[in-house]
Amino acid sequence: MRPLASRMAVMTGEGALSVYARAKELEREGRSIIHLELGEPDFHPAPAVNQALKQALDDGKDRYCAVAGIAPLREAIADYLSTTRRLKISPDNIVVAPGCKLSLFMAMMALIDPGDEVLYPDPGFPGYPSIALGLGGVAVPFELSERNRFQPDPDEIARKITSRTKILITNSPGNPTGTVYSDETQRRLAELAVKHDLLVLSDEIYARVIYGEKHISMMSYPGMEERTLIIDGFSKSFAMTGWRLGYTVAPPRIVPAIAMLAVNSYTCVAEFTQYAAIEALKDREGMTSRMVGDFVERHDRFVSDLNRVSGFRCVPPAGAFYAWVNIEETGISAEELCRIMLEEASVAAIPGAAFGVAGTKFVRFSFASSTAILQEAVQRIQRVSSAWEHTAVVR
Ligand code: PLP
Repeated sequence: MRPLASRMAVMTGEGALSVYARAKELEREGRSIIHLELGEPDFHPAPAVNQALKQALDDGKDRYCAVAGIAPLREAIADYLSTTRRLKISPDNIVVAPGCKLSLFMAMMALIDPGDEVLYPDPGFPGYPSIALGLGGVAVPFELSERNRFQPDPDEIARKITSRTKILITNSPGNPTGTVYSDETQRRLAELAVKHDLLVLSDEIYARVIYGEKHISMMSYPGMEERTLIIDGFSKSFAMTGWRLGYTVAPPRIVPAIAMLAVNSYTCVAEFTQYAAIEALKDREGMTSRMVGDFVERHDRFVSDLNRVSGFRCVPPAGAFYAWVNIEETGISAEELCRIMLEEASVAAIPGAAFGVAGTKFVRFSFASSTAILQEAVQRIQRVSSAWEHTAVVR
């Protein structure tokens, strides 16, 4: 039999999805699992959004439609980015896709040639290196280290730039660390991008899920408008994970390439979901701020509870909805720890290596669950922590 394309040997899956599969298996055996592995808000869109979807269907909005997305949605996204990020964007520079991940995939496919180097955060979203490698690119990690409060180090990035470096991927607020890149860091990254003529893929999917700090888009810095592609969508800020709605904001010369890839793959995004997305962006019921308000309360409680578990150390995240816990002092590996938590305590979380080598001594817990569930999760973990207490370093 003929082999698969060689790219299949270099692409990787997602740790969250494999932990989820095992957790589901245990559920089928009758176990009650607490799911802290997936990056999915436990909220649903506001009723007006569902109503807009139904109305669109009743109005017959179920046809093929514009490749880049229907004009009223692209206009609504441009308005939304102007209000929330103070960006002046033409609706013509926006391409809507079925999910942020596909926006990312299309943007990378439009830009990466074999041998092109792509700088990406480690730990970071697993798709960054996987897609880069699948396209024949060279994935070059830069570290988000605990010593540096998980901020990118512009000096390290500068050292790693070569004549083949084409793309710098940024993700603020970031998955899995919850870091909001500082203004100073972003300014220096932007200067590097301008100096070395890099394109910046700024994954801003968590832009609205932020606790106190200000989110500044990479596109706002001098010289960045013509070299930044913003990747964003509805999954996190509007709790619409299963709707599969994302978008890319790209410089005018790149938009036709992304649209061409859309023509050759998904053709267009379902018309009725796009109409509902316009309603989501209006956010008349203040759903996003209510959800983020809830996350703030959970995050305060959950992070301090986790810090009481023997061998756990967690810096409170400034954005997104993950607790990124250093477990080195437990004396056991993150994989073993996650195995014990899932198999013996029925709590699903992800070993940090799923997000890159720099995540090896960490575990990611999503706190997009109710306070009661999060408390129950920590109690369950405390009950099995005797499994590592004898190896844990006493502080
Ligand atoms: N980018 C980051 C940083 C993410 O964490 C995720 C999802 O977890 C995505 C992109 C993909 O988002 P979507 O569900 O819209 O495809």
